Amino acid sequence: METKRLRDVKSFLVMDVLDRASELERQGRSIIHLEIGEPDFDTPLAVCEEGIRAIQQGETHYTHSLGIYELRAAVAEWYRKHYGVKVAPEQVLVTMGTSPALLLVLSVLLEPGDEIILADPGYACYPNHIRYLGGVPRFVKVYEEDGFQFRPDEVKRLLSRRTKAILINSPSNPTGTLLHPEVMKELAGLGVPILSDEIYHGLVYGEKAHSILEFTTQAFVLNGFSKLFAMTGWRLGYVIAPEEYIRPMQKLQQNFFISPSSFAQRAAVAALTKNHPELERMIAEYDRRRKEMVQLLREIGFGIAVEPTGAFYVFANARRFTDNSLQFAFELLENAGVAVAPGIDFGENGEGFLRFSYANSLENIREGLRRIARYLEQKV
Ligand code: PMP
Repeated sequence: METKRLRDVKSFLVMDVLDRASELERQGRSIIHLEIGEPDFDTPLAVCEEGIRAIQQGETHYTHSLGIYELRAAVAEWYRKHYGVKVAPEQVLVTMGTSPALLLVLSVLLEPGDEIILADPGYACYPNHIRYLGGVPRFVKVYEEDGFQFRPDEVKRLLSRRTKAILINSPSNPTGTLLHPEVMKELAGLGVPILSDEIYHGLVYGEKAHSILEFTTQAFVLNGFSKLFAMTGWRLGYVIAPEEYIRPMQKLQQNFFISPSSFAQRAAVAALTKNHPELERMIAEYDRRRKEMVQLLREIGFGIAVEPTGAFYVFANARRFTDNSLQFAFELLENAGVAVAPGIDFGENGEGFLRFSYANSLENIREGLRRIARYLEQKV
């Protein structure tokens, strides 16, 4: 039933965990969800109001295929203000989420057999996008003792004639760690474009995330509104690229998507240009949960070598308990009533780990980890 292209695309294992979780919930079991990959906060009020205003005023049509100019200009200004880098609105293409942005960028970079270097563990969708386009993911293992930093020597070893880009994601899903600016600088100096997924920027606790554009102009930035502005359902993102790549991507956008959502774009302009008191509270709350989750996980016996300081994930070493993260995730679900993401979902080097999300209330996090602690205690 599947084309070859589709056979190369893997489904998310965590979805199997989720399916089983819903089955258990239907049977009346209480399940705590710590596998979640999206904010549990609502979109800031001023953003919602702007979206509603746009709909009421009839902004319900296709827009320019690159996105409305005001939003492209607002993105350029955001990067100037936050990173001190010069971006022209003409370098920005607005997409229906960061995911389509990734697909468009890879589509203009990859011929069949071309390679992209990326971290293992890393965001599970990346290799699927690459393979779908006939490309070859080349994985660099990153290790907890290094705070999951790239080892530039390992990257150099993987460079080949066919390398089209190095893909980085800081703060990272699943590890919640940030790349050191020196590492970013070193990667930027290797002579291949850097594809930088900056979707978790802004969700940082005590550390500042750097944009790749601070280090090189030979870069493609992927970003969006899903995480920092809690706008997953609005489906809006963008790519910043060297200007010569915009037209080829525009061609694809016109054919695949026509234009991004009109009123979501208006709302996104408000996201970037207005003040949102909710965001400060949201970030403070994530930070509180992060600290408590790290502490509780360590008390249970999970290994956290380097404290994560970004996104809303803790990637915890569970090798004391298991060498099969998928099986262990199911075991915790069935016996403790807690859903978590198995490390193997994020790459072979993620085996033996679990990803815990703190995009859930402190109350639920405490209850979930209490259940896990209780289960593991009675097991030994
Ligand atoms: N990149 C990373 C690292 C992510 O975690 C996600 C969402 N899970 C995305 C991209 C896609 O986000 P969206 O399409 O909602 O912008």
